[in-house]
Amino acid sequence: MKRIYLDYAATTPAHPEVLAAMQPYFSQRFGNASSMHSFGQEAKAAVERAREQVAALIGARPEEIVFTSGGTESNNFAVHGAVKADSHIITSAIEHHAVLEPCKLYKNVTILPVDKHGLVDPDELRKALTDKTVLVSIMHANNEIGTIEPIEEIGKVLKGKGIVFHTDAVQTVGGIEVDVNKLGVDLLSLSGHKFYGPKGIGALYIRKGTKMKSFLLGGGQERHRRASTENVPGIVGLGVAAELAIKEMEMRNEKLLKLRNKLIEGIKKNIPDVILNGHPEKRLPKNVDVTVKYVEGESMLLNLDMQGIAVSTGSACSSGSLEPSHVMIAIGHSPETAHGSIRFTLGRLTATNDIDRVLDVFPKIVKKLRAMSPLAKGGD
Ligand SMILES: *Cc1c(COP(=O)(O)O)cnc(C)c1O
Repeated sequence: MKRIYLDYAATTPAHPEVLAAMQPYFSQRFGNASSMHSFGQEAKAAVERAREQVAALIGARPEEIVFTSGGTESNNFAVHGAVKADSHIITSAIEHHAVLEPCKLYKNVTILPVDKHGLVDPDELRKALTDKTVLVSIMHANNEIGTIEPIEEIGKVLKGKGIVFHTDAVQTVGGIEVDVNKLGVDLLSLSGHKFYGPKGIGALYIRKGTKMKSFLLGGGQERHRRASTENVPGIVGLGVAAELAIKEMEMRNEKLLKLRNKLIEGIKKNIPDVILNGHPEKRLPKNVDVTVKYVEGESMLLNLDMQGIAVSTGSACSSGSLEPSHVMIAIGHSPETAHGSIRFTLGRLTATNDIDRVLDVFPKIVKKLRAMSPLAKGGD
């Protein structure tokens, strides 16, 4: 049985060119980028080249890129680096845990609600500002429902106010156009493994002049902003992934949009009582997230997995907790319907016949599960 991977929002396979570029930096070119000898200088040159590649992808200057261990560290760095104990922080109810959890350590935090499509209202954000507000952190696109937030508008609201504006762009960088100046952000998180780079590498964009405390203390790497010996192979891989994203983005998205729309239409046509989660237009080209009424997300996931199809759910068990996803609750689902969400995320290697296969298998699974469900009215 051919396995079909439709969980590209969770992680992506490294691009073959990424892998090839990284390889020598594990062996022949193993130098420490801080060493003064030729081995070190070779590694340092590779790191600086990657810094340029990553900067080019987001319209930044190379010196504004700090390499980190990934999206989680970048988000933690952004929050802890920008605020003091008594600072007021504004964030949203649908942020990734890597933003929400560090924010929880502070006393003065406003968590903005979102509408039924998952959108933050820039006007509500404006009303939430106080003279103590130091940091606003709103994600560029949500990882579960794929909604793209009005970052540019929020940037305009915050312009000239001296408030640090952070966006978690882990789901968008390398996927859709991201330009730090157009968006008007001061800090931006990105992660390699979400766009065909390696795992365990990411970056935080820090706009020149933004006051930030260092997060990891130790050596003087990354201009004293992030200590620890550089992950040279990871950084090289991230750079190549960035370059490939610039080159292939348009082509990738043309295909993704077609396949995404085909999957949405097919699900709507073949399964009654489904709701598309997220915004109908302002959504990631890779994302299809639906709530299937009267069925549990993890039952669907496990049944799809038995057919070789890998997806994700905002339901309980899959995430290792008993609570349904905070994103599902924030967009207005009841705890019951929140448990029925299923996420398909498409990518580079997704083919039309993969989608055809899902559209053949998935309605049958739903029908079977509904026939067994005490929640289904009469079954269908
Ligand atoms: C995956 C993800 C993260 C975490 O990134 P890691 O590199 O896996 O630590 C943070 N935010 C969003 C929106 C994500 O999708």
